Amino acid sequence: MCQAPISGAAALDLDLAPWVCPQCTYVNECGPEKCGACEGPRPEQPPTPVDYTSAIASIQTEVEQHDLCRSLARAIVEYG
Ligand SMILES: [Zn+2]
Repeated sequence: MCQAPISGAAALDLDLAPWVCPQCTYVNECGPEKCGACEGPRPEQPPTPVDYTSAIASIQTEVEQHDLCRSLARAIVEYG
């Protein structure tokens, strides 16, 4: 199956990391050596193809905000 690593190993293993074709912007998953759309060569150092780190960070921020919201709501309920 197609399983791209999400963190940790992904940074070290570019061969398995998804990458964006600089020519047609097609997102190639699981690191094929050619673009699946235009068959262009994969760049040696893809310019941060799919930024999982910031995506995860923004999700975490969202969760934290929800948590903050929930504890504020709880505080209001508890303390009137
Ligand atoms: Zn392409």
